[in-house]
Amino acid sequence: MSSEDKDFKGRCMYCNTDVGRDKVKTCGRCRLVRYCSKECQIASWKTHKLRCNPNLRESLASDPASNALNTALSKWINNWRDELHNWAIWAMDLANSPPDRLATHCFVIEIERRLNPPSASQFFRMHGGGVETRASFIARLEEINEASEETVACVNERRGTDTAQIIILCEDLIRFLWFSLRDGGASLRNRDPAMSKALAENWQQGMISAIETGRPQASKTHLDRAAIKVIGPPPI
Ligand SMILES: [Zn+2]
Ligand SMILES: [Zn+2]
Repeated sequence: MSSEDKDFKGRCMYCNTDVGRDKVKTCGRCRLVRYCSKECQIASWKTHKLRCNPNLRESLASDPASNALNTALSKWINNWRDELHNWAIWAMDLANSPPDRLATHCFVIEIERRLNPPSASQFFRMHGGGVETRASFIARLEEINEASEETVACVNERRGTDTAQIIILCEDLIRFLWFSLRDGGASLRNRDPAMSKALAENWQQGMISAIETGRPQASKTHLDRAAIKVIGPPPI
């Protein structure tokens, strides 16, 4: 399997752990959602129960267009997962924010399909996004009549102050990604505030161009340049 197309079917949809296709467990009711363990299945049920639908698999199968979009989105997210985590963290500006920033805010990106994508990593184009409070995101969903009970429950799900929530809006799909910071976020909160601010002010252009070109490095280069302007070049 090429790195262009990492396998996502062995990954827990609750905690992100990749346990491999052989070990992953599937929700017995809808057979659409995958878990690494009984613990993750139980933890996820509070929100999953609102959407767990034994007929959804069949209806997806009978609607090839929406099924194709769903699959393309899953692959795309999997290819960009590490970068999405970085961008979310940079955008959150943890060194200059209250300690509960990750509990009160979410990182939202808006993407759309592009015509004739040159690769799976370029299947979508980003046209907007940013950090906002969960309350303001829900208000936005209400305006467009997309604030279903399930979606609101997912947005409001609390996983503490060291777990970040990424929300991806893609046409009529909404995806929720969660990830926990390795050291509980201490290194990010203690980062040089000027550096944290520079990253928060510059992530978006880097992200849009990386997604456009399919090159994750594009974003890194852009951000390094922004950081050097603030804190000076790294010591040799
Ligand atoms: Zn898990
Ligand atoms: Zn289910």
